Amino acid sequence: MSPGFVELFYLTATALFIFSLHWMNNPRTARRGVAAGAAAMLLGVLATWAQPFVVNHGWMLLAVVAGIAVGYPLSRVALTAAPQRTALSHAFGGLAAALVGTAKYYLWLAEGPEELTTFRMTAIIAEVILGCITFTGSLFAAGKLQELKWVPQRAVTYPLQNVSNIALLVVAIAIGTWLAVNPAAPAAALLFPAIIVIALMFGILLIVPIGGADMPTVIAILNSYAGLAAVAMGFVLENNLLITAGALDGSSGLILSIIMCKAMNRSYLNVLFGAFGSVQQAVSEGVEKGEYKADTPESAAQIMGQARNIVIIPGYGMAVAQAQHRIRELYDHLKKRGVSVRFAIHPVAGRMPGHMNVLLAEADVPYSDLVEMEDVNRDMPQCDVALVVGANDVVNPAANQDETSPIYGMPIIEASKARTVFAIKRSKNPGFAGIDNALYFDERTWMLFGDAKHVVGELIKELAEESSIH
Ligand code: NDP
Repeated sequence: MSPGFVELFYLTATALFIFSLHWMNNPRTARRGVAAGAAAMLLGVLATWAQPFVVNHGWMLLAVVAGIAVGYPLSRVALTAAPQRTALSHAFGGLAAALVGTAKYYLWLAEGPEELTTFRMTAIIAEVILGCITFTGSLFAAGKLQELKWVPQRAVTYPLQNVSNIALLVVAIAIGTWLAVNPAAPAAALLFPAIIVIALMFGILLIVPIGGADMPTVIAILNSYAGLAAVAMGFVLENNLLITAGALDGSSGLILSIIMCKAMNRSYLNVLFGAFGSVQQAVSEGVEKGEYKADTPESAAQIMGQARNIVIIPGYGMAVAQAQHRIRELYDHLKKRGVSVRFAIHPVAGRMPGHMNVLLAEADVPYSDLVEMEDVNRDMPQCDVALVVGANDVVNPAANQDETSPIYGMPIIEASKARTVFAIKRSKNPGFAGIDNALYFDERTWMLFGDAKHVVGELIKELAEESSIH
């Protein structure tokens, strides 16, 4: 294929990547966004494959088969496991960048060290450091999110942790700077592997002090590292598509992590260095627990059937129980009775931004009845019933009231202001941040213990029976 055509294909792929991100902004066009992203990727692979320097087609085929063998099962994982699945993708991206950078360095070193210009070496060093950090950091983060036994879930801290971590990174950068200027010096053969080892270690040490609750945000940050590694790889391979796609990947990861930090009212530095999880445990242990009042679906259905307006607040538990379709049925039953039903969506409910929107869209809940947190909070005192479905941290009043709470300052949905609160969850366990929730001990709150899908099913049954009697 002529170079002009390759550039045209690359340009088209870049445009498709940009449209893909744009379409993913809205659940209605998100599927189109995924298709556009996949098409862009395919164009990029085919245009690269068709270039004359690709002579070993067997290796290309092997890479395609390996990619499909790993990618297909990854695409089948449950939505609740999306953050760790994404982390695995970043780990592979980081590993690829680090391997390409290392291979290029040794190839050029053997075939013509004069090719190792300071610019190229800088790109190689950046690619290898970022790639290695992303690889081990993402693997470790995925292990934490998957709650693997041998990976500590809580933030693990020790004296001088941040100082020693940053010192390690500074050493890697210092060696890298020296290598960029002296790529073929005798010591380089030893120092290049040293950078790899340090960066791999740094990836793990970076994640060790971060608690499980911050992990989705960290995944987005690692996304931006993976993107930057791809940009550096683009400079090493002189491939414009890699540079633009990497820049898009890097910036979207950064923007996503900023959105998450904002929604939790946390600073970027606090997420990375705040050791959030360890504080939570300490506070959780000190909390004085109140009394839970359990209710039955029968009496809850009676009250809900007579309410004028109900706000449903979904959280991670709805996703775990896959209760969205039952919730939609409940919505239909209540609507038929003339009850006003709206859904209050917290920006970080679930495990990724938009998690609740995606699930409710899957169940065809009308978009017009999804309300943003700020709007619904204004109406909460007039709300007859707040039905909390598997949400915990995002309705925890400690965020507003308890200055010692680790989630203090995080905006929440003020369910506690509703006249009556029904909360569905399976046990008395705390939410993701590991802290107890005073909303559940409130005199106006009634617990409906059980799996969300089952309990909502019971509510529907009771409402249907009541309707058939009247
Ligand atoms: P939480 O994780 O705080 O609480 C979920 C609750 O659901 C749990 O208390 C659990 O209680 C209950 N639950 C779990 N499974 C079921 C089930 N099958 N049926 C019924 N209930 C169930 O979720 P929230 O959505 O309230 O909060 C999200 C958390 O994630 C916040 O801490 C947020 O900061 C964090 N986070 C979210 C991000 C995002 O982008 N969405 C990003 C970063 C962090 P039990 O075990 O008793 O059933």
